Amino acid sequence: MVTDRHKSIAKYLREETPHNPRTAELKHHFDAWHIAKGLGKKIDALAKKKGCEDVGLWKKSIIHHMYYVAGTVPEGQADLLGEKWKSVANHVQDIHEHDTEIYPMCDHAHLLGDNNRNKQWLKPGSKPAELLNDILTNPHVLKDIKKISSTYQTSSLEAFHSLIIRFAPKHTGFMWLCQLARYYLAALHYNKNSARLQGVTREGQERFTIRFPKFKKGQHSVRKEKTPATYKYTTNILEDLLQAYSDSPQDLRESIQEVRDQEPQPLASEMDHPDKDEAVRQHRCRFINQ
Ligand SMILES: [Zn+2]
Repeated sequence: MVTDRHKSIAKYLREETPHNPRTAELKHHFDAWHIAKGLGKKIDALAKKKGCEDVGLWKKSIIHHMYYVAGTVPEGQADLLGEKWKSVANHVQDIHEHDTEIYPMCDHAHLLGDNNRNKQWLKPGSKPAELLNDILTNPHVLKDIKKISSTYQTSSLEAFHSLIIRFAPKHTGFMWLCQLARYYLAALHYNKNSARLQGVTREGQERFTIRFPKFKKGQHSVRKEKTPATYKYTTNILEDLLQAYSDSPQDLRESIQEVRDQEPQPLASEMDHPDKDEAVRQHRCRFINQ
């Protein structure tokens, strides 16, 4: 199971799942993007301190390293995950051999003579190097990293949630059946369109767009531009419905009734209902007494 780093979710899974035979084997992982976001904030805060400005130049590389670690360490090797992650605290100080047998040296080739660097190594033992080291090897951070998800991320689910809003905006209250139909449409649209390929120009070049997401605070990110979404499935649905209706209107009516029968009672019906006259009387008293 892959989730964000919400503490209550972790607590629930830790305490509840072992008792349920269906979930006893369940492993809980954290979504890489959510860990990166928290870490990025800590690095930004450090880069604002006097004398630590250079740390900010390393933020992108450190987050890339996090994704790299998540993608290259096989499932279940939490110790290697931890050591490989911590090696970046050395790497930023131009130290590429590490004091551990599990991960004794960086994976990259020699970096000698690399004149195209956009950032300086941090001086070993200096204040920025030490403070950055504290962030990267912090026990809480390490615990999160050891639970990082290598294969699955939550971004596709989040994309689906924001798509639902387009089919069923929150500012409009829909009847139960209508809301259900809108969820189904959102799911159909998502399944049809989520795996769209990257678009190409007439000249055959791959299309990209530049975005300025809020969390990047003025920094841009480059995104692949996908081919336009298709809505052709709606025509297919209408055709199928017409066909079903002309085959047997009675069958279709019964199917609709079956769905309608699943409608739950309104939420308010579960509440304790006070005597209305009494409730109104008390409401009035409150204003008279003031
Ligand atoms: Zn290195």
